[in-house]
Amino acid sequence: MVTDDAVHQVVRACHRLAAEGLLIGTAGNVSVRVGDRVAVTATGAVLGELTADQVVEVDLDAHQVGGGPVPTSEVYLHLSVYAQYDVAAVVHTHAPVSTAASIAVGEIPVIHYQQLLLGGAIRVAPYATFGTPELATRVVAALEHRTAALMANHGSIAIGATLDKAVENALLLEWLCTVYRDALAMGKPATLTRKQQEDVIAAAIARNYGSVQQAPQEENR
Ligand SMILES: [Zn+2]
Repeated sequence: MVTDDAVHQVVRACHRLAAEGLLIGTAGNVSVRVGDRVAVTATGAVLGELTADQVVEVDLDAHQVGGGPVPTSEVYLHLSVYAQYDVAAVVHTHAPVSTAASIAVGEIPVIHYQQLLLGGAIRVAPYATFGTPELATRVVAALEHRTAALMANHGSIAIGATLDKAVENALLLEWLCTVYRDALAMGKPATLTRKQQEDVIAAAIARNYGSVQQAPQEENR
């Protein structure tokens, strides 16, 4: 059984993300993993008004435990992330600017040092129909060495060692997409060089600032 605490974490996360404008109506879903069980939002729930009985429990094979409403149609996306990465929470949104970015750009290059908390340039997972294994596979690949990604013509995903962290990462991604949109409107955005990124990571380690993931994997373009 997932604990009441896990259920309430999901409820609080949904209310916060809705208040911040990232979850709109029934769009999006949130989960937290506790051992070999996952507490996940039910399909059709208005997330800003989510109640504890709209958080359902599944095992890692998507079998529902303990009854209640049907889990989100993106349950395979959540379980595929848990199968691949050592994280305890997944947040999927149709946040407006992140979704716009998923439609308009091929990636978000490294334009701000805070972005390194998400692991570097933000990938856009290629489009596939919602709820399908194809979509889950593509999104899991886009998350390699990252704590957030965009899903083409669909939305965003953020992961974390805790649900609070995943929520922060979803908010950071929406902020980043907003800044990138505004920078594109003003001119040609400059990106941080690989050396600049490495210096940020060294400074962060020296100051124990946040939890920057690891050195960026790619050359900056
Ligand atoms: Zn979605």
